[in-house]
Amino acid sequence: MTDRYCVFGNPIGHSKSPAIHAAFAAATGQDLTYEARLAPVDQADGFAEAVAAFIAEGGRGANVTVPFKEDAFRLASGPGNRLTPRARLAGAVNTLVFGSDGILGDNTDGVGLVRDLTDFLGVSLAGKRILLLGAGGAARGALGPLLDAAPAHLTIANRTVARAEELAALVVASHPAAAVDACSFAALAGRQYDVVINATSASLQGEPVPLPAGLYAPGAAAYDMMYGSETPFLAQARRLGASVLADGLGMLVEQAAEAFALWRGVRPDTAAVRRLLRPA
Ligand code: NDP
Repeated sequence: MTDRYCVFGNPIGHSKSPAIHAAFAAATGQDLTYEARLAPVDQADGFAEAVAAFIAEGGRGANVTVPFKEDAFRLASGPGNRLTPRARLAGAVNTLVFGSDGILGDNTDGVGLVRDLTDFLGVSLAGKRILLLGAGGAARGALGPLLDAAPAHLTIANRTVARAEELAALVVASHPAAAVDACSFAALAGRQYDVVINATSASLQGEPVPLPAGLYAPGAAAYDMMYGSETPFLAQARRLGASVLADGLGMLVEQAAEAFALWRGVRPDTAAVRRLLRPA
């Protein structure tokens, strides 16, 4: 029987996930369907009910996108269900697996980011100075996999400094040996980084994050989680001298591949899907 998967979001019509997973299924010969499902935002338990309905229809797993990643975290935290350690640190779930032993919640966003940086862009993270801009869900989801890559130092900078400090405290609790600090954007003056990752939504609003000149070390990489070839953050990074510039499309494809591997036990080759989404 054909296995069923979906992505829950609201809105969801723009999602690239059905096309990505259809391409993975075709390339790996997996018999599955993957659809976009709109879950309600105006009902208490609307997300949990949408998931329960999908399971009752035979659903085997799901991705979760804005604004339901924290609802999915709560669902997978419930009695009889489980969370992966990286989902626990992220405080958010983007991948659900529906098994006879309950629901497993995982977060593949951060590992997708790290895989895009290391495997596709050739950016090594080990021993490097990393700056993570933002302290929302995307930043929090990136923490575990970034720390697992053994950077020399991780700075979390955010417009609201208290939120960056909260994330740094989570890191200290989960990775006691990690060198981490939190600060405002203004406090970055005089500092230098090898990898700067924009996990704010400033680019969505058409503006760059206010960053000082001299921030990028020679050969540094700038990565915007938002997709779009020349986001305001990337245009600024070019001006400030970053050597590697990348948007978040690769992260989107890699997080999907990680979810697919979790569901199917088969890791799809992502190069063909990258070309499909962004023809040369
Ligand atoms: P959240 O709403 O959870 O967090 C937004 C963050 O951006 C906060 O840190 C907020 O700061 C900061 N921010 C918002 N506006 C500005 C601004 N004008 N200047 C500076 N900082 C600002 O969003 P998410 O974490 O869910 O998403 C962040 C980005 O990551 C989005 O662009 C999203 O598209 C992208 N993303 C990409 C993925 C991919 O696969 N490529 C996956 C997930 C997300 P404050 O705390 O002060 O409000």
